[in-house]
Amino acid sequence: MDFETKLVNLKIKDQYGATNTPVYLNNSFAYDNAEDLEKVFNNRALGYTYSRISNPSTKSVEDKLAGLEGGKQAIVCASGMAAISTATLTLLEAGDEFISTSSLFGGTYNLFKNYQKYGIKARFSQGIEAEDIAELITDKTKFVFLETLGNPKLDIPDIKGIAKLCEKNQIPLIVDSTVTSPVLIKPIELGANLVIHSTSKYINGTSNSIGGVIVDGANFDWTVFDNFADYKRFGKLAFSVKARGEVFKDFGPCSSPLSSMLNELGIPTLALRMEKHCQNALELAEFLAEHPEVKEVNYPGLEDNQYNQRAKKLFANGFGGMLTLRVGSKEKAFEIINNLEYFYNLANIGDVKSLVIHPASTIYAGNTVEERESLGAYDDLIRVSVGIENVEDLKADFAQALVKNS
Ligand SMILES: *Cc1c(COP(=O)(O)O)cnc(C)c1O
Repeated sequence: MDFETKLVNLKIKDQYGATNTPVYLNNSFAYDNAEDLEKVFNNRALGYTYSRISNPSTKSVEDKLAGLEGGKQAIVCASGMAAISTATLTLLEAGDEFISTSSLFGGTYNLFKNYQKYGIKARFSQGIEAEDIAELITDKTKFVFLETLGNPKLDIPDIKGIAKLCEKNQIPLIVDSTVTSPVLIKPIELGANLVIHSTSKYINGTSNSIGGVIVDGANFDWTVFDNFADYKRFGKLAFSVKARGEVFKDFGPCSSPLSSMLNELGIPTLALRMEKHCQNALELAEFLAEHPEVKEVNYPGLEDNQYNQRAKKLFANGFGGMLTLRVGSKEKAFEIINNLEYFYNLANIGDVKSLVIHPASTIYAGNTVEERESLGAYDDLIRVSVGIENVEDLKADFAQALVKNS
């Protein structure tokens, strides 16, 4: 079955024939006898006990997202950050290290930096090639964490090469594919072990809820880690069982069943939306690249972009819906944002509506100037999440916003 058909055809089982997942707002599930509940609580039988641990509505979207990524299991969390913290804390203990890059979403960068407080060291590589990562591996390295398409840098790491390096060193690779979605890339096929999404973005598509997911490829031998000793009997699924049974259960970052349903509703239209996001972003990037008021446009779909060749190799169906432009100064950036009529000025991406933000003064306001520069949040940079409107309107809107400014 083609991926597009699969998106629409992920069937659910329902006793009344409902074709959308019913929302089970129960927080707990009753059993007729004590023995059955004992079995479920002790991982000896499948079932639902309490919605902080699992819930049938949330399970439905978990199964769909696992299937779309080519994974075996998934854990849907309250947010993308909840998914990232749950995944990483399942692996980490005080004294450990891990490796990531400086092309990270601001929230993730801050989380990783703050792990210092718990005795965990994040090593941030400036480069995104396998050799850059290799230099930072020590015997304390617990995982490597990458983004498929850096936000806001829009750089593309050598995911395949880094996956090979990780495999050779018996280190799991975690890939955040929020900005690309499974329509553009399926990191597990390239050798990643865990895939993260903030489902708040493209998967949801209309900004009506927050959510995140960890998809487990069940393709890593977790027994290499001492802190997985109790989970040996779960084999390749050890990560998912440990994550749900420890961090997810203990910290409580579960999704509301209602949010799970809202995020699930975006799935059937994901390919259609991504196609339009990518087409519009390419056309808008080409238009802006020619505009005399724009100093620089960053979009991996542009032929002269540093990552164009890699994007063509790694991504199917397009180059994503995000682009950035630099306009010379913060003041100019603000004026352009204020002049735009169709673009919402807000802190989100992946909506069908076009969005803009000045990252340096918002998402990265709490970071030092050096950190901002290394994360690509320059003072004169505007980030655009291109929506699915008619692209002629988007170009015309930028044309008037830029001219007013000159
Ligand atoms: C938004 C985002 C996150 C965080 O997700 P939330 O749902 O906002 O918690 C993580 N990674 C990337 C790449 C994002 O864009």
